Amino acid sequence: MRSMVRIGLISCVKLKQNSAAKAKDMYTSTLFKGMRYYIEHETERWYILSAKYGLLDPERTIEPYNKTLLDMNGFERLSWARTVLDVLKKELPPPNGSELVILAGEKYRENLIPQLKALGYSIVIPMEGLSQGRQLQFLNNYREGLVNADPEAKNVEVEHEMQKESPPPQLNPPERSLNENIILEFLQKYRQGHCDDCLSAILNITPRQQVNGIARLLESKKELYRRKSDCFKCHRHKICNHINGS
Ligand SMILES: [Zn+2]
Repeated sequence: MRSMVRIGLISCVKLKQNSAAKAKDMYTSTLFKGMRYYIEHETERWYILSAKYGLLDPERTIEPYNKTLLDMNGFERLSWARTVLDVLKKELPPPNGSELVILAGEKYRENLIPQLKALGYSIVIPMEGLSQGRQLQFLNNYREGLVNADPEAKNVEVEHEMQKESPPPQLNPPERSLNENIILEFLQKYRQGHCDDCLSAILNITPRQQVNGIARLLESKKELYRRKSDCFKCHRHKICNHINGS
């Protein structure tokens, strides 16, 4: 079965360290840190789109600089994009087995995306159209969801404690939104792992991030489980949603 490689691209920001550092540590804004966290968890490999250095390996040590694409005119941005594309073409795996996840502003995307699409890459822009405030919220929610959903050891302890209690406490039925119910009912019916993209497409819950947010919320309530497996629908090996036992 073919597995999908997800590759992340995030744009550089103005706020930086005062001295040389690895590119991934150079940018100090909350936005950048949030994007880095997201991309490190959602992709196998990532790069920074730097106004000065072009396509930048996060491990490469660089000097601070004072340049963003927002300060460049259209012609300069076009020439920047050409340079980046030349390097990208060498760095990226073939388009039929990969997906590009892009967290970068419009000016960074405008000349890259049409070209990458023309080369056959599928492109995901998780924060497209969101204001800066909404982007920070999105990244923060993502971070909290992952952190809360994580510790398995804790769950075991909680289960043991619950077994000791008798009779079990009367629990109110959990309150769920309509889309939460739709997703749970679907997974209960099929009992096979489905990725966020497929759930979004099958159940017509858009944008995809909405499914992602709901699924991680449901995971924090222990109503479903998210782990890497082959998606039942698209057969890609990625994070899929499972009902307990499936
Ligand atoms: Zn899928």
